[in-house]
Amino acid sequence: MKYSAPPYMNDVLPFPPVKDAWLHTARWRAVEATFREVCRRYGYREIRTPILEHTELFKRSIGEATDIVSKEMFTFETRGGKSLTMKPEGTAPAVRACLEHGLFSDHPVLKLYYVGQNFRYERGQKGRYRQHQQLGVEVFGAVDPAIDAEVIQLAMEFYRTIGITDQALKINSVGTPQSRAAFLEALRDYARPHLADYSQEGQQRFELNALRMLDTKDQGDLRLLENAPRLVDYLDDESKVHFEKLQSYLAEAGVAFEIDHRLVRGFDYYTRTAFEIVGTNLGAQSALGGGGRYDGLVEECGGPSTPGIGFGLGMERCMLVLDTLGIQLPVDDESPLAFIVTLGEEAKVRPAAVRLLAEIRAAGISADMDYRYKKFGQQARTADDLGARYLLVLGDGELDRGVVGLRNQTTKDQRDVPLTDIVSELQGIA
Ligand code: AMP
Repeated sequence: MKYSAPPYMNDVLPFPPVKDAWLHTARWRAVEATFREVCRRYGYREIRTPILEHTELFKRSIGEATDIVSKEMFTFETRGGKSLTMKPEGTAPAVRACLEHGLFSDHPVLKLYYVGQNFRYERGQKGRYRQHQQLGVEVFGAVDPAIDAEVIQLAMEFYRTIGITDQALKINSVGTPQSRAAFLEALRDYARPHLADYSQEGQQRFELNALRMLDTKDQGDLRLLENAPRLVDYLDDESKVHFEKLQSYLAEAGVAFEIDHRLVRGFDYYTRTAFEIVGTNLGAQSALGGGGRYDGLVEECGGPSTPGIGFGLGMERCMLVLDTLGIQLPVDDESPLAFIVTLGEEAKVRPAAVRLLAEIRAAGISADMDYRYKKFGQQARTADDLGARYLLVLGDGELDRGVVGLRNQTTKDQRDVPLTDIVSELQGIA
């Protein structure tokens, strides 16, 4: 039996893969570290929630009629007969956790970030996987459009810091559930006379979730929707002011944006601000990330009326773009500084090597040795493969003299260093 990873789920590997260089853990860590650093600068703290939640939480919050809930969730029954779901997104779990631990009452404005895995049973393709990672933030407790601008700015700052600068920021306002109801009626009235001309998906959405008709890639549907009513014309006064202020704050912060009247998002819980960051190098799956305001979600999840806004940025798509653009990341050096090679009488040199290795590592220096080969040349080759900068040559002769041969792998110079001094010598180099 030959096993492979489940379809459309990726392994991220300890060495740069030949084929998909973006699936390299060192690169992922560099990107995650940047995200954490930007979040720290903006005053966001990390939240971690379980991979599993009660199924009801997602049904309730994301909406039964959405693609995610109706056909994409990894849901199963526990041995105890409870229905659990692997989280398809990070917002509802964050809301649930904050409610459960009373964070809203202690922190009137709560700024959170997370790095988490999501699971959606999607039709997989490049950039669209069944397990994907999101870098996300959520802010609870603020209605000020300045926080909408901050959240968006944080996302853009993250991309700028890692070197992705050719993306477009699209914004829209989806209003309140009340203003949206009037818009939906207008949209249905507009589409109804030509409904038969829409794609099958368009027709289905007309029935189930008409707002989602706007979010189509079908060229025919797009043509039909050309003169469709626009959300912005149906906004209530408060939402209109909110949207205008957001635009002026973004301009103040120097964040370029465009208004996309067809921008709606895949979850039912959004209110007012919706935004998406679109990459130019991603082919069909062009959304790098997106988010929006969800002022009714906390209440929907059983909490007090609490406004909220957040985003999720797709990690895989970010890595793919970095790869396409050939952007080098400041990855940490995982090569050992020193590598011990032994030669001579095994019973004598190997215990000495084990002891020396322990001392060096205890001093905070990365070091290694070869556990497989006995021949000196083979050990040295392993050191080269791992990119060790120094060889520590430990043979019978060296041990008798109480020294170790310190060989610089770049210059090939070698000199004896007393065993008692080697740790401090390496500390001087590191
Ligand atoms: P969403 O949670 O659907 O708003 O998605 C936010 C971001 O996550 C998207 O813009 C994508 O970058 C990424 N994303 C969503 N679904 C997937 C997926 N199935 N595979 C890879 N990335 C995804």
